[in-house]
Amino acid sequence: MAEPEISIIEREETERKEILKRYKSLLRSIRHELTIEQKRAIRAAFDMALDAHKDMRRKSGEPYIYHPIAVAKIAAQEIGLGTTSIVCALIHDVVEDSDYTIEDIKRKFGEKTARIVDGLTKIKEVFDHTDSMQAENFRKMLLTLSDDVRVILVKLCDRLHNMRTLDSMSRKNQLKIASETLFLYAPLAHRLGLYNVKSELEDLSIKYTQREAYKEISAKLNAKKAERDRFVRKFIEPIKKKLEETDLKFEIKGRPKSIYSILKKMNHQDIPFEQVYDLFAIRIILDSSPEKEKSDCWTAYSIVTDIYKPNPSRTRDWITTPKSNGYESLHTTVMSNDGKWVEVQIRTERMDEIAEKGYAAHWKYKNSKDGIENDGKTGGVDGWLARIKDILENPSSNALEFLDDFKLQLIHEEIFVFTPNGDLKKLPKGATALDFAFEIHTQVGSKCIGAKLNNRLVPLSHQLSNGDQVEILTSEKQHPREEWLNFVITGKAIARIRNFLRESKRELAEKGKEILKKKFHKEKIEFNDDNIQKLVRYFKVQSPLDLYYAINKELIPSEKLLISDIVNKKISQSQNKSQSEVERQTQNNRKSEIIVGEEYDLPYNLAKCCNPIPGDDIFGFITIGEGVKIHRTNCPNAVSLMSNYGYRIIKAQWKDTDVKNENRFLAGLRLIGIDDVGIVSSLSDIISKNMGVNMKSITIESHDGTFEGTIAVYVEGTKHLDNLISNIKQRHPTMNVFRIEVGS
Ligand code: MN
Repeated sequence: MAEPEISIIEREETERKEILKRYKSLLRSIRHELTIEQKRAIRAAFDMALDAHKDMRRKSGEPYIYHPIAVAKIAAQEIGLGTTSIVCALIHDVVEDSDYTIEDIKRKFGEKTARIVDGLTKIKEVFDHTDSMQAENFRKMLLTLSDDVRVILVKLCDRLHNMRTLDSMSRKNQLKIASETLFLYAPLAHRLGLYNVKSELEDLSIKYTQREAYKEISAKLNAKKAERDRFVRKFIEPIKKKLEETDLKFEIKGRPKSIYSILKKMNHQDIPFEQVYDLFAIRIILDSSPEKEKSDCWTAYSIVTDIYKPNPSRTRDWITTPKSNGYESLHTTVMSNDGKWVEVQIRTERMDEIAEKGYAAHWKYKNSKDGIENDGKTGGVDGWLARIKDILENPSSNALEFLDDFKLQLIHEEIFVFTPNGDLKKLPKGATALDFAFEIHTQVGSKCIGAKLNNRLVPLSHQLSNGDQVEILTSEKQHPREEWLNFVITGKAIARIRNFLRESKRELAEKGKEILKKKFHKEKIEFNDDNIQKLVRYFKVQSPLDLYYAINKELIPSEKLLISDIVNKKISQSQNKSQSEVERQTQNNRKSEIIVGEEYDLPYNLAKCCNPIPGDDIFGFITIGEGVKIHRTNCPNAVSLMSNYGYRIIKAQWKDTDVKNENRFLAGLRLIGIDDVGIVSSLSDIISKNMGVNMKSITIESHDGTFEGTIAVYVEGTKHLDNLISNIKQRHPTMNVFRIEVGS
């Protein structure tokens, strides 16, 4: 019995030494000068974590404490965060895993640290430990995040370390964590300008979610490495020589592109690896004094472009106007002697650090030596967090919608526009006149019928450009419409419109409920939950609310409805005659026009939320009990489906989009423009002259010089539809025409 005990003691001894070694390496990685109090705080945090996790091990079998030490080291070394963040990183899992409370932390480390750790603990509670309701949790998480940006930063360090050690997790958890990372944490890192963290998170994510593609690309990158290095050396040589003749201090190197961005390019342009030409970029980093930064960069630029011919359309000057995440750099793409385009990035050491480490570094140069510690916020992030808060505080937007809104906030760049009084408004790029109206006031947005742009009349869907002066036109008769969601992009406008639609749906549903109640009464059937649920299931609607709404809207014809039959299950769904003849016909004929997965004849249904037509980019989603549903990849539901249920996504493609198809698919078009006499006859003329397009319905409404119309047509596919759209646009050049969901 003595022997194993000794080996346990020995193991504990080795581990104790290893823990101390790792802790010391953390201390060495901190590059700012530490005061005695700061040293004490870090030591106290380490001791607390050591005690809290003393009996715990990670999935890999290692002592748990390795994890918080590693997270703190990432915070210090890779992002350049200060003492408070390092302390928080060390104790980020303490409250969750031990008897220590937030109160204990407050007593020992003060109010600020306690608040950040509290935020980190809440994220864990609501987010990491549940499988379902992710979006709702996500919303809660952001509520805490927006308190102090350090919560996000430490959380990103935590996630990065978990991604680096994902191998020991189960496949299911690997997929869940990796898709979440790609969906949420990588864009967050990007928005904060943490370029290195972002690309490592992306690469690690696809390493697990797209294993084959990842393996293939990294193998090919390795195979060609020597050849690439030779090319870079040869390319750099003349630049180096010329730069050495000046008095610039510089470093020049080849930077490989990330695997994720190569894969994205392959998918986006539909090309094989071999055709991705920019597998690397050349980076010139100058050691400049602050006042000479800009002129030094342009000197280097002129040297490079004297040697190699630049592509003028691909010069980017982010030195004069930095990106909103703080990025500064001068980019140009030049033609090498071998006839290949090569991107050259020119920047100073300061710019390079900001580019790789983001806001923390930015803050460091802008303000104190203490990094981001002072108040945890900087200008750009502030504005962004304020916008997030605005969405969060609007109780109407439900979680999934919120997720989409949030994504929009992340990816859009900003434009500046003016009110008639000359007030400046900031909007995301791509925002329309209607977004602007909602930005001014909900009432202005709800009543918007169009706008005057620099004194020209434009429809409400008109996309604004930098510097536009916008006057909103309103009408008392106007109210928010579902189609508006097709051209607003700001979280505020989306939330307000949805809120209104939900409210009005609720009112309509109330009336539908009364109609249904009467039906029940007439057939002498009890109006109870049980029977309502039977109808909900029978008509395959989402909820009783949807059922009532459908009854009111006569989507379910209440006259012919025999409740007793359904409730007593006398007829089956297939005998349901509520679908129109045409729809039934297309439903039946279109089987096996899509290849699902690698199979030809997997049964599927077209999703009602986005109504794909041949030619649309599509994917399959494996539902529970209803087989495969085909969605458009730009379906409003796609992002959340893919990120929350990535493992249920299955490839799907149309067998043939060129062949003339006997089947017709229903598609909707929304038309918005300046009112014109005879618009209806002009439109029906165009449509009837378009071979084989049948119109199902057309509605046109005009208000004070502008009009909005909807047409529903039967088409063969996207080409057919595009053809129709361009014919309409040819005849009416100022009209906005875009596709909408039918029946919405
Ligand atoms: Mn952790």
